Amino acid sequence: PCIAICAGTNCLALGNQEVIRAFKEELKKQSLEDKVDIRATGCHGLCERGPNVLIYPQEVYYIEVSPEDVPEIIAETVLGKKVIDRLLYTDPDTGEKAVHQSDIPFYKKQTRMIINTNTMIDPKRIDDFLAIGGYSALSKALFEMTPEAVLDEIKKANLRGRGGGGFPAGLKWETARNAPGDQKYVIINGHEGEPGAFMDRAIFTGNPHNVLEGFIIGAYAIGASQGFIYTRHDMPQLKENIYTALAQAEEYGLLGDNILGSGFNFHIEVHFDVGIFVSGESSALMRSIEGKNPEPRPKYIRTSVSGIWDKPSNLNNVETWANVPQIINKGHEWYTSIGTERSKGTKLVSVSGHVNNTAVVEVPMGTTLREIVFDICGGLPNGKKLKAVHFGGAMGGSIPENLLDTPLDFDALSGLGATMGAGGMLVLDEDTSMVEMTRTLLDFLSKESCGKCVPCREGVRQMLKVYNRLCEGKGKPGDIELLEDLCDVSKKASLCSLGRTAYSPVASTLRFFREEYEEKIVQ
Ligand code: SF4
Repeated sequence: PCIAICAGTNCLALGNQEVIRAFKEELKKQSLEDKVDIRATGCHGLCERGPNVLIYPQEVYYIEVSPEDVPEIIAETVLGKKVIDRLLYTDPDTGEKAVHQSDIPFYKKQTRMIINTNTMIDPKRIDDFLAIGGYSALSKALFEMTPEAVLDEIKKANLRGRGGGGFPAGLKWETARNAPGDQKYVIINGHEGEPGAFMDRAIFTGNPHNVLEGFIIGAYAIGASQGFIYTRHDMPQLKENIYTALAQAEEYGLLGDNILGSGFNFHIEVHFDVGIFVSGESSALMRSIEGKNPEPRPKYIRTSVSGIWDKPSNLNNVETWANVPQIINKGHEWYTSIGTERSKGTKLVSVSGHVNNTAVVEVPMGTTLREIVFDICGGLPNGKKLKAVHFGGAMGGSIPENLLDTPLDFDALSGLGATMGAGGMLVLDEDTSMVEMTRTLLDFLSKESCGKCVPCREGVRQMLKVYNRLCEGKGKPGDIELLEDLCDVSKKASLCSLGRTAYSPVASTLRFFREEYEEKIVQ
């Protein structure tokens, strides 16, 4: 038997350490330490109902487990094969109890092909990952495929970058591969500084080896011998799991010189940010790795041609790299059978705000926003009506309730003035003031603007001044038009994506909730 306890951040906050300790003590008391395996796993996704515990082999799923429940779980379920009713998830609509994880509506309606491994392994044990087929894609790539064949597979899979605008990863890899120069770099962007985005953290902390496997395969395809991981300094669990995974991969010959005897050499360094949002922007991130101030560079310099120390450098975020091993193992036909015409595969979405299940979910591209909010995340608390969802973080856009049947798709979201971003989704109920919500986002952006260029530094600040006026009930005639002008300048003239997309929350709320602005103008 195996007891898999969610050790994700939310379950940590809800007391999973006490639960893990109680399981260890009870097993010791009963001399069962060698007979029952305990795994402190990555995030299971159902953050709201933790600490969550999954018992193998029956796959019984318990929610909101406390240390006091532990002796009973061991006696009844682990040893006695019986189910404890009070610890099961109860469907609020039907009153039905879900015995297995797959019976819970939250899980039933997802397609979990990346984050599903989180419940199967202890991220600190490489043997757990190897036991579920981990690193088989790397072996296939190195011994059965040329770098060009790997690149071709990623291009045919039409894997689009999960960290922002959805640029095709294969084309980016190809640009870096074909750029002049022998020294090439690859980078994992694990910065994830967007408010409300916590899916990369769940992937990387929960199964770091999967991300490393995709990263090493990408380095092989691009011809890079050096990789960098760039992540947050303030996530101790993530830091620990990355360092453990790197040490294990080196010990097993999966990293370093002559990987698995293939002749391919690849080394990885880890870099941490200093708590600045804009350091997640590609050119700023690369300057930070060089040891300089993380200031963005003009975009006409393409980092895939001239990035770190002016060498070709390919950057993808955690989720993009995590997709690679499955594409190599199962092929592009399988991958392109999931999703929409132009957005393939699945997408992880972190859902927060006015919603019953604050959660990390993974769904096929094409799933509607309504399905995510209501079918998977259980709708809104206290019988409130939905007003909008804000998608894509501080530089994303708001989508009103009447457009909630929009599919999750890079192009469909951008057509509404929102953006996929990394996949942060904020649910807003009927009592939300869209003007005040936008003011909060602009306050964040004005503090995080690096100040290098005027349209962003002054433009966002001026927009915030207007919002402060509106929220104090002192809006002036002409304020809406002023906001529209400032949006235009910031969008067209800013140096980097922060300034160029800072207009999005303003423009989308002006488009869909203009009457809320008009109400705040004093004539
Ligand atoms: Fe800095 Fe903003 Fe200009 Fe980007 S757009 S360089 S964050 S001032």
